[in-house]
Amino acid sequence: SQVIQLKSRPEGLPTSDNFSQAEQTLAAIKTGEFLVKNQWMSVDPYMRGRMIDRKSYIAPFEIGNTLEGGAIGEVIESLNPDFPVGSKVSSMLGWRSHFVSDGTEITRLPETPLCPSHFLGVLGMPGMTAWTGLNRIAELKAGETLFVSAASGAVGSVVAQIGKLMGARVVASVGSDEKAAYLTNLGIDAVINYKTCGDLSTALGQAAPEGIDVYFENVGGEHLTAALNHMKDHGRIAVCGMIAQYNDTTPTPGPSNLAQIIIKKLKIEGFIVFEHWDHYGEFAAQMGQWLASGKVQAEQTIYEGLDNAADAFIGLFEGKNKGKMIVKIA
Ligand code: NDP
Repeated sequence: SQVIQLKSRPEGLPTSDNFSQAEQTLAAIKTGEFLVKNQWMSVDPYMRGRMIDRKSYIAPFEIGNTLEGGAIGEVIESLNPDFPVGSKVSSMLGWRSHFVSDGTEITRLPETPLCPSHFLGVLGMPGMTAWTGLNRIAELKAGETLFVSAASGAVGSVVAQIGKLMGARVVASVGSDEKAAYLTNLGIDAVINYKTCGDLSTALGQAAPEGIDVYFENVGGEHLTAALNHMKDHGRIAVCGMIAQYNDTTPTPGPSNLAQIIIKKLKIEGFIVFEHWDHYGEFAAQMGQWLASGKVQAEQTIYEGLDNAADAFIGLFEGKNKGKMIVKIA
């Protein structure tokens, strides 16, 4: 099996030097086991957190070990009747070309006309994150104004689209004009390019003149400051991520306008999608319908080959992706 390992812990933005490739020999499968050839793997911002040696909701990666993450593959040899040859499976054993399993923590994917890679994106963890934040954390209502940052990404692009389907006016921020055009074409009401708009808070005030009911926070920093300035009274903030800070080498000071939380009586709630996984079935049924009827578009940016997995991962912090960032392994 070709594998990608953590060679050293990144300082600031990760570089290709933090990763190394190795070849591992897999033992022949025994009774109850099967061999999977990975076809697609996910790179996600949360993996940056796992590269830091600290206690968090998920254990850190160890130097010299193969990295892990969501992957979709096909069973190519099997001595396990529950996972016959040809089965498509989802696992957390990405960053490698092949693995042997006895079925522990491996899910067989249902037959769908969709490309299986979407189980890493719109039908998987990022899609579920979007749905959870809007429905279970912020409880978005029809007629409200929703603001979402990193809005062309895996989570954000689904937040923006579900927001429209739930009857909200959706304001989005992205880092390029091409991404802005993509969201405008999806029917998003107002899109800000945070890199070229000048003062973000001023631009947000113009895009949401009546204020924001719900902010879906993916970025942190200046985005949070701007959102706090324009929240309505009793507004809600679903805190999903703060990607602008994941590569910080020194702690970033918090927003200077936190008193807005009091003045506007805001409710701010963070969440981790895995704690909501008992609702995955409900989400998947709804998302399956939206995809089948064309009401949600599933965009992907695909890097080819395990050799390019580190670049794909680093690219998340450089805005290289539109929709879900995916690596095609085979
Ligand atoms: P994306 O597909 O959105 O990829 C990351 C995007 O973030 C980039 O394309 C880039 O777009 C934007 N970005 C990168 N750096 C910055 C920056 N410094 N300032 C502003 N924007 C930046 O990733 P995901 O959809 O997978 O994740 C989005 C967020 O959701 C992350 O914060 C992630 O940690 C979080 N998350 C949280 C989960 C939870 O359970 N709480 C689960 C899954 C994700 P652009 O060109 O627009 O800058």
